[in-house]
Amino acid sequence: MASAPVAMAPVSDAGRPPFRAADVEALVHDLAGILGEGGVSTAPRALARASKDGSGMSPILTAQQPLGAPDLVCCPKSAHQVPDVVRAAVRRGVPITTRGKGTGNYGQAVPRYGGLVIDMTGLTTISALGDGYVTAEAGARMITLERAAWDAGQQLWMYPSTAQSTLGGFVAGGSAGTGTIVHGRNHMGFVDSLDVVYAHDDAEIVHLAGDDAQPMVHTYGVAGIIVRATVQLEPLQDWRCVYASFASHHDAFAAAVHVRGVSPQPRLCSADTVTMSAHLPTDDAIPRGRASLRTIVDSAVVDEISGIVEACGGRVEAVRSGLQDTLRASMLSYNHPTWWMQKAEPDTWFHMEVQGDALVERLDEVEAVYEDGMLHLEVGYGHMFGMLNGRYRDPQQVYDGVAQLEALGVAVHSPHQSYVDRDADRIRTLAAQTDPRGLLNPGRWLS
Ligand SMILES: Cc1cc2nc3c(=O)[nH]c(=O)nc-3n(C[C@H](O)[C@H](O)[C@H](O)COP(=O)(O)OP(=O)(O)OC[C@H]3O[C@@H](n4cnc5c(N)ncnc54)[C@H](O)[C@@H]3O)c2cc1C
Repeated sequence: MASAPVAMAPVSDAGRPPFRAADVEALVHDLAGILGEGGVSTAPRALARASKDGSGMSPILTAQQPLGAPDLVCCPKSAHQVPDVVRAAVRRGVPITTRGKGTGNYGQAVPRYGGLVIDMTGLTTISALGDGYVTAEAGARMITLERAAWDAGQQLWMYPSTAQSTLGGFVAGGSAGTGTIVHGRNHMGFVDSLDVVYAHDDAEIVHLAGDDAQPMVHTYGVAGIIVRATVQLEPLQDWRCVYASFASHHDAFAAAVHVRGVSPQPRLCSADTVTMSAHLPTDDAIPRGRASLRTIVDSAVVDEISGIVEACGGRVEAVRSGLQDTLRASMLSYNHPTWWMQKAEPDTWFHMEVQGDALVERLDEVEAVYEDGMLHLEVGYGHMFGMLNGRYRDPQQVYDGVAQLEALGVAVHSPHQSYVDRDADRIRTLAAQTDPRGLLNPGRWLS
């Protein structure tokens, strides 16, 4: 992760689509014809639900509420309905924001200029599961796919800590999670093929395979709507979840550095400070007053992991196995420790996504950048990754820390923005072809 642009200025309003209330009314009628009366809603509850996502994790985005609200929400029940919906919205000039489970934490699923939200959670069919792949509709949940894979003696290459999130949402809006240590981020070969719908007058489902599918990954739905995806599976390993505790997170992080060198590689390795560990859900394997390390490792290396823990001054609290425990450990990773801490102490904490071995090598300096700084550590793909938490004062304090972190050799990605910030020029060029009228999730460009 190279540092991505971190901007305090709001995104450009230049691309705001000029639709009117009459266009929305006409579209409600069109969509009722396509999806049935129950498939489209303008009810306040449905609109309010589609106006929210995980951006409450950012005090900066929270202060900008409302980030947007749709005029109507529709819920297709099969992939082949989506092109019909898109053609209708394009004909009426109404913007379209695609929504999965709404767990994205940058506000990127919130329709900035209103218009139509397509809720994809009704598209859940798993159409094929073979040796090394699973094909499913975009609304299928990652946890469902992982379960289906285990039943077939396989596992997903990766899934996010929000295991309830959708396949389409993870491909379009997420990036990493359990499995990332081995396979990197989701744009690195995880996606085998995609069926997408572009915002054209004559929209149909387009199949993109191999290299042709990769440019659509992590594009926030601005360049196409994913209706189906085929992603990579691999043979199931015999996993163990090792929970360890340490007197201090310095020791836990030192252990994480050693765990990353173990072969076969772990599927996940997360570690937290004493304070952050105390905010995780109650579990005998996460004793209060101790820093916690949780790692999902092959059964063949459990003894080696125990040796690492002890050599770093810690103790193994539990060794668990099975799908449920693997999922449980996953759901305590990435943003989740921050989320639990924010839940316990609302309006107190913010976080920055940070990367680099300096996180461990210069830990005290890194944590000193922000008041009460506390690092949640993940072993990433060949590097250390984490969430640096601090006590929130104001946006300036948050952004001032970026230069200090970069000076320490830490790359920073801000979770306090909703614009496309990775590969923005390339994605904009792609979207000019696939969405010539700028109707797909508009308002995501920095300038
Ligand atoms: C506590 C917490 C922990 C998290 N942990 C992780 C983590 O471990 N790893 C990670 O990568 N992320 C993580 N996230 C972010 C988020 O959960 C992931 O990005 C998630 O995969 C998004 O899936 P979703 O179904 O909720 O998508 P949504 O939030 O609904 O949408 C995300 C983006 O994708 C677009 N989109 C959704 N579906 C489609 C589609 N079918 N076609 C085109 N565009 C679409 C939306 O318009 C939006 O821009 C976390 C967030 C929170 C709040």
